[in-house]
Amino acid sequence: MSQIEVKNLTYVYSAGAGTPKRALNCINLSIEKGEFIGLIGTTGSGKSTFAKQLNALLKPTSGAVLLDGIDIWQNAQAKPELAREVRFKVGLVFQYPEYQLFEDTVYNDIAFGPKNMGLCDADVKEKVLAACKFVNLDLNLLQKSPFDLSGGEKRKVAIAGVLSMDPEILVLDEPTVGLDPCARESLLEQLYRYHKEKDKTIILISHRMEDIAKYSDRVIVLSDGNLVMFDSAGNVFGCDKVLNEAGLKVPQICSIMTKLKAGAIPDLNDKVLTVDGAVTELLKFV
Ligand code: ADP
Repeated sequence: MSQIEVKNLTYVYSAGAGTPKRALNCINLSIEKGEFIGLIGTTGSGKSTFAKQLNALLKPTSGAVLLDGIDIWQNAQAKPELAREVRFKVGLVFQYPEYQLFEDTVYNDIAFGPKNMGLCDADVKEKVLAACKFVNLDLNLLQKSPFDLSGGEKRKVAIAGVLSMDPEILVLDEPTVGLDPCARESLLEQLYRYHKEKDKTIILISHRMEDIAKYSDRVIVLSDGNLVMFDSAGNVFGCDKVLNEAGLKVPQICSIMTKLKAGAIPDLNDKVLTVDGAVTELLKFV
């Protein structure tokens, strides 16, 4: 049984009133525990809507999302706490999550989720400290107001607030947008470490194809609410045509390698996804 199964998932905004917008159209896919999944598509392709379906923020118009074999909306009307449980299991980090900080101290903001889960003070503290460690947050900041922190620090606090619930699945909607290159790289490295060390499933939405190519085991490509491809990062970024039709581009390093193979270095292996991989390959010809 897969950890996540999405079956014939369709979601229409304003299905009851106004002009309906079909944001997801009959999506079928399965994700295994511990996978790192990239989710790509142009603006408006349905990425955020898909993310919200995974933690029961939106209810499918038709079709279903199953977690460990159980439909997340099954019996939810009779038992509203089921939707709550799903939100503890699937942590969702929204775009610009720092706008949702609201507590008086950093500690209280990160502790909000575990407290809501009903954990005792000692366990809450343990979760908060572990989450700070994963995002590399300076513990001296814990008693400060989150509003006195820098933008990058606020982002770390907001992400730590989701990690502190120790979700089985972490869905991140453009977590690095607006960060400088150094902060972006270190945040992605920390998330990757969290995924590897704790065998957590990660679903990363990003417009940065380089980052998706570097970290993802498999990549979901959405276009206008349709699933156009779900395959290994190598296969997805080997399909320029499909990506172009979906309004996307392969990472720059992939097109440079393809051009080099077509021109100066015919023996080059152009199936690399990262700059480091390209350097290793090119050094063979020096
Ligand atoms: P993405 O995250 O890929 O940018 P979204 O999931 O936000 O895409 O949006 C998918 C489609 O649904 C878009 O056409 C968008 O305009 C529409 N949409 C998103 N949110 C709403 C809403 N609250 N009401 C109506 N339409 C919406």
